[in-house]
Amino acid sequence: MGEAIVVGGGIGGLAAAVALDRIGWRATVLERTPVLGEIGAGMSQAPNALRALDELGVGEPARSAGVPTCAAGNVRTPDGRYLQRARPGDPTAMLAFHRADLHRVLLDATPDGWVRTGAEVTGLRQEAGRVTVVAGGDELTADLLVAADGIRSTARRLLWPDAPPPRFLGRTAWLGIADVDGLPGSMTLGPGGYFLIHPVARGRAYWAHVTTESRPDVRFDDEKAEVTRRIGSWHDPIPELIDRTPPGSVIHIDIHDLDPLPTYVRGRVALLGDAAHAMSPDRGQGAGQSLEDAVVLAAALATEPTVEAALHRYDTGRRPRTQATALGARKDGARTTSRAAYRALTTMIRLMPAALWRRSIAPDGNATWRWQPPRLPARA
Ligand SMILES: Cc1cc2nc3c(=O)[nH]c(=O)nc-3n(C[C@H](O)[C@H](O)[C@H](O)COP(=O)(O)OP(=O)(O)OC[C@H]3O[C@@H](n4cnc5c(N)ncnc54)[C@H](O)[C@@H]3O)c2cc1C
Repeated sequence: MGEAIVVGGGIGGLAAAVALDRIGWRATVLERTPVLGEIGAGMSQAPNALRALDELGVGEPARSAGVPTCAAGNVRTPDGRYLQRARPGDPTAMLAFHRADLHRVLLDATPDGWVRTGAEVTGLRQEAGRVTVVAGGDELTADLLVAADGIRSTARRLLWPDAPPPRFLGRTAWLGIADVDGLPGSMTLGPGGYFLIHPVARGRAYWAHVTTESRPDVRFDDEKAEVTRRIGSWHDPIPELIDRTPPGSVIHIDIHDLDPLPTYVRGRVALLGDAAHAMSPDRGQGAGQSLEDAVVLAAALATEPTVEAALHRYDTGRRPRTQATALGARKDGARTTSRAAYRALTTMIRLMPAALWRRSIAPDGNATWRWQPPRLPARA
C-alpha cells in the first residue's frame, strides 16, 4: 500500500484522506491555516454527492448533519409569487448543510494524527517516482501528492505555470446564516440577481444573494446594510433573514471559476476539487465534484497495477464530467443573473407543467445527479 501527501484540509482534501484510508493507504494532510475548519455559510449536496459520501463510509453521519431542502422546488419572484411550488411532503433530492457540519463529518472519519495544521506547502519536486513537498521548515516525501489546495492552488501554479488564473465571472455574492427555523428552502429570481434559502441544522437558515458586478473586490463598510439596501424589499422572509444574521458574519465574495485544464495530473501529482476545476456555485456542485474525485481516485489506486496507471484513469475519467459541470454552472449563473433574460427565464419556468418541473428535480432528474460511484473495497 502507498503513502500520500494531501495538500489542503478543506472538503476535497479530507474526502481524499478518508478515501485513501478506505483503500489502505496512509496519508498526511497539510493545511496552512492554524486551526482546521470551514469558514463560510452553507451549501447543498445533490444525490451524486450523497452517493460519494456513502462510498466514503460517511453517508449516515452526513445525512444526519444535513437537512432536506426544497430550494429547487420553490421558485419565486421578488414580490413573493411562486413560479413553481413544492407540495408539502414532496420528496426532495437535496440536503443542505452548514459547511462546518459537513467538514466535521469528514474530519471525524479521518484517521487520528493525519492532519497537520499551520503547514503551508510552498514548494515541490518529483524524482524517481516520489514526490517531495516543502512545508514550513520541513520536507515530506511520498508516493503521491493530492493537491486539494483550492482555487488558488500553489501546486497548480508550480506545475501548471501556463494555466490561466481564476476567471472573474462578473458576479458577486453575499452569504449568511440566520437564526430562522422551519423554512422549506426556496430560490427567488429577481432581475439581475437571485436569493437562495436553505434550511440547515440547529434551526437555522443559510441564505445567499448572487448578483452581477462589473469588477471584483468592490467592498462596503457595512455589507449587511448593503445587501439590505439591494433586496430588503423582496418578499418575506428575505428581510427577516438578513436582519437576523449577525452583522459581522455576512460574507461577501466574488465568483470565480477555472478555465478547463488540459490535464489534472503531472507525474505523481493529482489536482482534486477546486484546485482542478473550481466552478461557479450555480449548480451547487463544487464540493460534490470534489467528493466524487476522491472516490474515483481511490478506486483507481485500489485497482490499477501502478500509481501512474491509476492517475491516468483518474485524469481521463474526471476531466470531461467536471469540466462540463463547470462550464454548465458558468452559463447557468450568467442566465439566472441576466437582466436581459429575466422575463424569458421566469416565463419559461412559470409555463413549465408542474409535473415536468418536479421530474427535473427528482433524484434521477438530471445526468449530473445520476452519477454512480465506483465501489471502494470493503473495509477489512
Ligand atoms: C458562494 C458559494 C456557494 C457554494 N455552494 C456550493 C454548494 O451548494 N454545493 C457544493 O457542492 N459546492 C458549493 N460551492 C463550492 C464549494 O464551496 C467548493 O467547491 C469546495 O468547498 C472546494 O473544496 P476544496 O477542498 O477543493 O477547496 P477549499 O475549500 O478551497 O480548500 C482548500 C484548502 O487548502 C488550504 N490550502 C491552500 N493552499 C495551501 C497550501 N499552499 N498549503 C497548505 N494548505 C493550503 C486552504 O487553507 C483550504 O483549507 C460553493 C462555492 C461558493 C463560492
